[in-house]
Formats: sequence, C-alpha cells, structure tokens
Amino acid sequence: MLEIIHIVIDIDNTLLDGTTTHLKYCNLVSGKQIKKEQVTQFYIYHYYDWTIDDFNAVYDQYGMQMHDESLPLEDAIEMIQLLKQKHTITFMTARPEKYRAVTEAWMQRHQVPYDELIMTEGKLDAFLAIQGDVLIDDSPMYAEQFIKHELSMILVDYPYNGHLEGKHIHRAKNWKEIYDIISQI
Ligand SMILES: [Mg+2]
Repeated sequence: MLEIIHIVIDIDNTLLDGTTTHLKYCNLVSGKQIKKEQVTQFYIYHYYDWTIDDFNAVYDQYGMQMHDESLPLEDAIEMIQLLKQKHTITFMTARPEKYRAVTEAWMQRHQVPYDELIMTEGKLDAFLAIQGDVLIDDSPMYAEQFIKHELSMILVDYPYNGHLEGKHIHRAKNWKEIYDIISQI
C-alpha cells in the first residue's frame, strides 16, 4: 500500500457506539427499557412506537449528551491513528451542524486524528466533491446509493444492513477487518 488514499469515515455506529447512548435517553424519556441486543433496525424510534418527529424532539433535547457520552468502538481509534500516518482522513456525518463543537471536542478527547469534519446528509454528493476513495459507514441508505453509483465502500456489519451487497461493497465486522481491507485496496 504505497498510494495515499482519501478515506471518508462515518461517526455514529462506525467510529463509536451511538446506539447505547441513544437508547439511554430514549429509555429515560419513554420509560421503556430497550436494550442494545434487541436493536436490529436502523431507526430506533420504531422500538418506542414514536414518529420521527417524536424522536427528533428527544434528540433535540439530549443530543449533546448522546454525542458527548458515546464510547469508541473496539480498535477504532488505534486503526484510524495508523491509517492517518499514510492517508487522508475525512469524517463525514449526518449529525446537524449544531453538534460540531461537541463532535470536535470528542475527537480531541479520544485522540482521533483527521483532516476534515464534514456534516451533511448528502454524503454521496459530498464524497464525490472531495474525491473520496472509500466510504466507511453503517447506513443502509448510503450503502444503496454507493452500490447504485458503483463507488467503493466498507460497510460496517449490522443486522440492519445485512441484506446489502455490491461489487464495490466490502463488509467488515470490526476495525481490524476494516484496516485489512484498506491495506488490500
Ligand atoms: Mg452511522
């Protein structure tokens, strides 16, 4: 692997465990006790019989805490530190811009190295604009877009994206596997 590549990395459920902190505050508000092991759908508001607006109200109230308290996924930071020694790293998240400060502070606190942080729901267009080489993400929606456009993606394996496959889609169960896949690109 001699070539410098531009690696684009999602944050929630790719770099860190977003599900646990989302459940914590959704459980608090609802009085339910939904556990991480139960979650097989991408949108957790289904488990609370909420609408997306109900969830957004909770996210609006507790989003700062959710993002601040999330913990890194196993080996994520070590592997990203290694990748950053050779490659360009952009983080790309659909988190709203108002969470930029808490996101940057989290990155600094956990010693996550990167070149740029882009906050957008339009990841496909943003990826093309910055000439990304590979997207690392867990989202079934972005996976479908990348499959359609035959773009390279490492899909972090979750029950909610298990049905998706494509020529340029590499599935990884953890960050050691992600590192190995990038080493072979
Ligand atoms: Mg994600």
